[in-house]
Amino acid sequence: MSSSDFRSDTVTLPSDEMRAAIASAEVGDDVLDGDPTVRRLEELAADWLGKEGALFVPSGTMANQVALGAWTRPGDEVLCERGAHIANYEAGAPAALHGIQLWPLDGERGALDAQEVKRSLRPDFIHCPDTGLVCMEQTHADSGGSVVPMEAMRAVADVCREAEVPVHLDGARLANAEVASGVSAADWASCADSVSVCLSKGLGAPVGSVIAGGGAFLERARLVRKRLGGWMRQAGLIAAGGLWALEHNRARLAEDHELARDIAGRMDRFEGLSSPPDSVDTNIVLLRVSEPAPSASALVAALGERGVLVYAFTADSLRFVTHSGVGPEDAARLQAALEEILGE
Ligand SMILES: *Cc1c(COP(=O)(O)O)cnc(C)c1O
Repeated sequence: MSSSDFRSDTVTLPSDEMRAAIASAEVGDDVLDGDPTVRRLEELAADWLGKEGALFVPSGTMANQVALGAWTRPGDEVLCERGAHIANYEAGAPAALHGIQLWPLDGERGALDAQEVKRSLRPDFIHCPDTGLVCMEQTHADSGGSVVPMEAMRAVADVCREAEVPVHLDGARLANAEVASGVSAADWASCADSVSVCLSKGLGAPVGSVIAGGGAFLERARLVRKRLGGWMRQAGLIAAGGLWALEHNRARLAEDHELARDIAGRMDRFEGLSSPPDSVDTNIVLLRVSEPAPSASALVAALGERGVLVYAFTADSLRFVTHSGVGPEDAARLQAALEEILGE
């Protein structure tokens, strides 16, 4: 039996239809003359996100790093939330690649406080770094895929507009936020000057992300992408998967969200496991683990022996991510495995 893989929504495999779209994609040299499929994907993404244009890049990390490099100069400071992907999971790239420093602020389920952002903007003073950028994240991965409320994002956007500091939105899972909230991706993206989206997570493409924004930003972003080695040749072959994903896979994310709530609802019966279903906004479930349950790492091992793959998120929590590769039967298998491990 194949495993029930809840480690991440990045494990999704291309469907037969997506593979057919990839096989028949029209391609060209994107660096020399432009690749027609890449161009179609970039146009569709820009349209969806309500921005002037978009660039196709190999990963979400590169999309964020292209944005950071395009908006800042060495020595600048970037404000972000403490759990932000750019601060925790990009291997120090802001410092290593762009010579910038991050100033993480405490957030509420991923939401920055606008007044704290305002207080943290640097004055024009020779001793201080310049605040080059403010970065938000939607959905907020470290808070368990929470949807950051629109009022909170608008308030930050307003503070930044007034201070003339650009805003980048790490929208790796923006399509999940769109489906969960009913607020369009373009409305969410209107809180920022640039926005990145992963095509290779819940949307199900094998490879790729987009980074969208206005004309002057894109000109800089193209240069930074070139410097990072992210400008690809017959990239239409992989862009075709992203194009298929954007056109066909957005609405079905609602099923992933329902499955995540279903999983959270199954956890209450186990002593030592807790995951309030109202903490599940989208496709991520954080499961707190305490006595008398075994440790998070012991649970990961015991579940793995039963074909259920999950991540230990911290020393005392597990993370489940739902996606097109898992369904209700996998949730039932997870429950049965926990019953066996914890004894019911
Ligand atoms: C996954 C993720 C990224 C990076 O995407 P990769 O394609 O894995 O590089 C960036 N930001 C957030 C919030 C993510 O969840």
